[in-house]
Amino acid sequence: MVSNCANPNCGKPLHYLREGRIFVFDVPTGIEGPNGKRTRRLEHFWLCGECAQKMVMQQSAEGIRAVSRPQSRFRREVTAATQYMAS
Ligand SMILES: [Zn+2]
Repeated sequence: MVSNCANPNCGKPLHYLREGRIFVFDVPTGIEGPNGKRTRRLEHFWLCGECAQKMVMQQSAEGIRAVSRPQSRFRREVTAATQYMAS
């Protein structure tokens, strides 16, 4: 299981699961199982509350890493929150 924030620039230790965000990825291991299919395993990553505000975990050909959240989406969420507070 995870014990630290997945952002390499943060590395905050995980104390409370309710803080931040957990990401689960289905990762192929490259090992063939008894049925000839490649086995997969679940990998868990945690971003602390602060990092989850501005980053997401993303799976690409190079592996899984923390990346900045798309700006447009972030702006839309901010707008929605502002509208909610105003109503
Ligand atoms: Zn963090």
